Amino acid sequence: MSEDVTINNTAGGHPCCEYVKADGSGCLAVPRHGSRYCFFHDPDSAAERDAARRAGGVERSRKHAVLPSDTPDMQLATTADVINLLGRTLNQALRGEVDPKVSNAVGYLSGILLRATEQDDLERRLTRLEQAIPTGNGRTNRRSGGGDDPFAFNK
Ligand SMILES: [Zn+2]
Repeated sequence: MSEDVTINNTAGGHPCCEYVKADGSGCLAVPRHGSRYCFFHDPDSAAERDAARRAGGVERSRKHAVLPSDTPDMQLATTADVINLLGRTLNQALRGEVDPKVSNAVGYLSGILLRATEQDDLERRLTRLEQAIPTGNGRTNRRSGGGDDPFAFNK
């Protein structure tokens, strides 16, 4: 039996990569399956390492997917406008065209905007109702209405 003479370094009970560093110490990484070297030191994985490095570089250098700065503001006056924006953003997120941080912000802020729009709508309707209630002296009611106005708030 003529086994290769190897540096039999082990760490934590598992066999280690046989690569010897410049300082003479061994690499403590687990060897790849079917190899005596770990992913980083296996000569056979050089091409894979290059590909992984390139992919990492592409990932890092990829610009955040946002709309160009000259994109006009979207109209967001009504609930329908907000629904339209949410639908567009959702589709862009599904296609990976928009950064998840952006789509998350759109979702969160849209929720706030919808609640504010709802509140605004309620206040407008309340004001219209108050103004439509006739007062005893023939004028329409106001919150600050005085006299014997039974609907006056500031009595
Ligand atoms: Zn190694």
